[in-house]
Amino acid sequence: MRWLTQWLTALLVGLGGTVAALAQPTALCDYQVTLLDARASALDIVVDCPGQEALTFGGQRGFRAAFVSDFEGLDETRVRAIGGAWIVAGEAGSLRFRYRFELDQAAAEAAMPDVAQRVGDSVVATLPTWLAAPQRTAGRLSLGFGLPEGAAFASALVWSDGRYWLDNETVWSGGYVAFGRLRTAELTLPGPVSLGPAGQRRPPAALRLARLDGPLDLLQDELEQWVSRSAAIVADYYRGFPVEQGLLVVVPVPGRSGVVFGRVIGGGGGAVMLQVGQRTTVEQAYDAWVLVHELLHLGQPFLGNAFWLMEGIATYSEPVLRARAGWLSPEEVWEEFGRGMPRGLDGVARQGLANVSARGVYWGGALMMLLADIEIRRLTGGQRGLEHCLRGLIAAGGVASVRWDTARAIAACDAAVGRDVLARLAERHVYDATPVDLPDLWRQLGVRFDERGRASFDDSAPLASIRAQITAPDPASPLPLPPLRN
Ligand SMILES: [Zn+2]
Repeated sequence: MRWLTQWLTALLVGLGGTVAALAQPTALCDYQVTLLDARASALDIVVDCPGQEALTFGGQRGFRAAFVSDFEGLDETRVRAIGGAWIVAGEAGSLRFRYRFELDQAAAEAAMPDVAQRVGDSVVATLPTWLAAPQRTAGRLSLGFGLPEGAAFASALVWSDGRYWLDNETVWSGGYVAFGRLRTAELTLPGPVSLGPAGQRRPPAALRLARLDGPLDLLQDELEQWVSRSAAIVADYYRGFPVEQGLLVVVPVPGRSGVVFGRVIGGGGGAVMLQVGQRTTVEQAYDAWVLVHELLHLGQPFLGNAFWLMEGIATYSEPVLRARAGWLSPEEVWEEFGRGMPRGLDGVARQGLANVSARGVYWGGALMMLLADIEIRRLTGGQRGLEHCLRGLIAAGGVASVRWDTARAIAACDAAVGRDVLARLAERHVYDATPVDLPDLWRQLGVRFDERGRASFDDSAPLASIRAQITAPDPASPLPLPPLRN
């Protein structure tokens, strides 16, 4: 039957990408990853690339060759090391080799959250750190994981046909993988766009929670409640959790209190890493903005040239949806905007957001989202708002696991609201700089600030109803919004 399979494969490829994608997946290389002990000291990785004669491995952005040992060919495969990469050549039309990656050493010496972090007997490390990927070759990689007694593993990789899968081109931007003594839980949420019109038959989403094993004052139940409630308000805002499967790695930080740091890395699947202080109380967890901000990032494509849009969406929407859920008062939202929005003026009004440094994109982007939200509501008589633009982005497939160019994201947003609001604002404030009169904007919205920055409202102002709409509970909300606490 081999000739038939080959002929069928050739035919399917000839018919184009859509049909070819339905064919049984075959891996360019398969990785069997074995965790060598329960405290996650090192990985032993056996790589099998059927039908390949010679490839170079390692050297992709983020790969840490310094922590690789014992890179050796298996069977007839020959290996030659060249400055942080390996040329691998086989005799029999296939490549087999193995190497060892020292997780312990990487966590101790690199000391960077996006390389490897150890807490107790567990390690979180990003995919490109330890996965020696084949250079300049398109294809999919499959992975299997072997674990010793008492150890676990968690990733956001796609699971099918008994293996985990990712595209070789996405390895360098691959997300977090946790190993060792983890505590894991699977949270079920409404799937992407499932709560929108005609979305009823979409499958649910799974958010895997993996907690590294350091001490944490939050009880497991309190941690799970906080994460699932935060994910639920994001799912409500986006009308479905933005990704079908995601990972949230909680890294306890000894001696600290509050949420210390968070980041999303989307390649290979949306993965969030959240550093939570050991001494964090339940109140501090719900008061912190970081978790909701990071979960919101799962609902945008990676835009290499438009951090203003990615950070703007998360910075602006986070207090808005926490207010809609009753976790913040409307006054607290506008007080935060009153403090933050002036910091966006440098990008929006003086330099153009395309030209500002990383520090300027958060509030510069947030100010863009505020202007867009007001304009969409004004033009549609309150029928639509910024959330419709963001839901449109997700419905078009623009989520954290993909990379898009900025124009495509802007077009998807504007198509969803039926107006070219974001495109026009980008012309004025991203690729050019145009003055914004913030005191006048506050007056029109009916927001007054006292000398200490506290907000009060004037309901007779011309845009007062739009201001009220932005933070009001959503009357069309399909989910019973979770209360703040028990
Ligand atoms: Zn962010």
